[in-house]
Amino acid sequence: MSRPSILHVDMDAFYASVEVAKDPTLRGKPVIVGGQGGRGVVTSASYEAREFGVTSAMPMIRARRLCPHAVYLPNDFDSYLAYSRRIRAVFMSVTPLVEPLSLDEAFLDVSGSVKLFGDPPEIGRLVKERILALGLTCTVGIAPNKFLAKLASTIAKPNGFLVIEPEEVESFLHPLPITALWGVGQQTGEALRKLGLKTVGDVATLSRRTLERAVGDALGRHLHELANGRDDRVVVPDEPAKSVGSEETFARDIDDSEEVLRELLRLADRTAGRLRAKGLCGRTVTIKVRFSNFKTITRSRTLDHELDTSFEIYDVARALYRMLDPDRPRIRLLGVSVSGVVPGPPKRQLELLEASDGKAAGDRRALAAEAMDDIRHRFGADAVTQASLLEEPRAP
Ligand SMILES: [Mg+2]
Repeated sequence: MSRPSILHVDMDAFYASVEVAKDPTLRGKPVIVGGQGGRGVVTSASYEAREFGVTSAMPMIRARRLCPHAVYLPNDFDSYLAYSRRIRAVFMSVTPLVEPLSLDEAFLDVSGSVKLFGDPPEIGRLVKERILALGLTCTVGIAPNKFLAKLASTIAKPNGFLVIEPEEVESFLHPLPITALWGVGQQTGEALRKLGLKTVGDVATLSRRTLERAVGDALGRHLHELANGRDDRVVVPDEPAKSVGSEETFARDIDDSEEVLRELLRLADRTAGRLRAKGLCGRTVTIKVRFSNFKTITRSRTLDHELDTSFEIYDVARALYRMLDPDRPRIRLLGVSVSGVVPGPPKRQLELLEASDGKAAGDRRALAAEAMDDIRHRFGADAVTQASLLEEPRAP
């Protein structure tokens, strides 16, 4: 096995830590970030808050019960994005091979940086130091491949540092529970437990054929590789997004056309917000519909111009929805995405959108979109949904 030169760097409690970096008087206190409205959820909790059982994705109401004395703050995505860029710059300072997984997490391949900066562990220390200089802590996992590097950082959290040498792979990996294998969810976990397998080591003792028979060919092969510490996925530097979207599974299946359109508008709005947050626009709008019988369909339309606003995306999504078979089953899930994305705001076809007051309709829509982003940042995602339902023109 090759020497460990893949780093997985993961920020500790990223949003909460950014809030502490912005306001150092919060250091050492339980800090909980998230939507403050009735249906708000925790997006990040400092480790001091986690001691009270608060975790991200938990309803805010529950967090307030568990840790009433915490400092509660709304999401400040502008700051998180700004810090994310600084972190990215730190990564890029040691290697161009950076594959971001999210705002606060990335794989780095440093095999080509050794002459310049020293051994991978030295490079890992350097990254930690430079991130600390931003006022944040991170955890660095270093291993011969991505799978092991990510496991290392997961185990070493928070503010951790763990190197897995090739000769340590087996003793590190084999005692871990089968859920440590990437791709083992509830169903596969069940299938493996039925075979009496509890640890990764148990899975490693099985022949590839036996595994393939138990969980299917592709997954069996994949698990056999991982359980033996092998993962040949390479670090793919900063892949530009191919599509941006959002989807929602409903608590109960929906049918009423008004309700479906409302959800489409909400999803279009969320997708538009994500596009603009990434500084992108795109030409193809796709809706995804999963029916109550689990059949899933997609419908797309490609336009001759780029778009990035809620209203424009909703307009296309609604037209696609209206073309569905009226005898369709009830709807379980809806998704709205934009693909064919390119950087920058759309080149609008102003001459087609010229409004009577002389101001281009496209400009006005862009201004409305900006205002909605602003509302979202200030008051959370719930607020912007309502604002968009109130303020956006309803097309005939
Ligand atoms: Mg993280």
